[in-house]
Amino acid sequence: MSYDNILVAVDLSSESRAVLDSARSVTARTGGRIHLVTVVKPLTQVYGGLDMAPIASGAISFEEEAGTQARQQLENLAEEYGIDRNDVHVILGAPGPEIRELARSTRADLIVIGSHGRHGLSMLLGSTANAVLHDAGCNVLAVRLNFDEE
Ligand code: AMP
Repeated sequence: MSYDNILVAVDLSSESRAVLDSARSVTARTGGRIHLVTVVKPLTQVYGGLDMAPIASGAISFEEEAGTQARQQLENLAEEYGIDRNDVHVILGAPGPEIRELARSTRADLIVIGSHGRHGLSMLLGSTANAVLHDAGCNVLAVRLNFDEE
């Protein structure tokens, strides 16, 4: 099976290269274009139980700054992996739904995402991988991360 349009989701942690390396091993065999995305979470989402209204103006600048830094880091990764700058996406929102939506709008036929071994419901998949797999409109490659810690 070959893939033409691959969406790679990274959280800009040190594990991002493992996810990108797996995507590249797919394109090395079959070709295909890589879109690269990171999703910046709004402060209100990160601290969902707290009322962030008193620092609303600060929250806006927090998100702008986070978005600027995320874009810079993502563009550096894209350059390292030979991904076109136009195929780099920084989105503000909730990672799971935003990755699924971008997969639809870019007509991705494969999503590549990291997967942590954790406890309980997310034991086999990380929470974001779980959210993406649920209702994804295409195949999903879950790249197993942190093998050593289990
Ligand atoms: P986690 O949900 O923390 O277990 O993350 C697992 C994987 O989901 C990461 O390795 C990324 O591939 C993806 N991911 C998590 N958070 C984000 C994010 N904010 N933006 C894009 N991808 C993400």
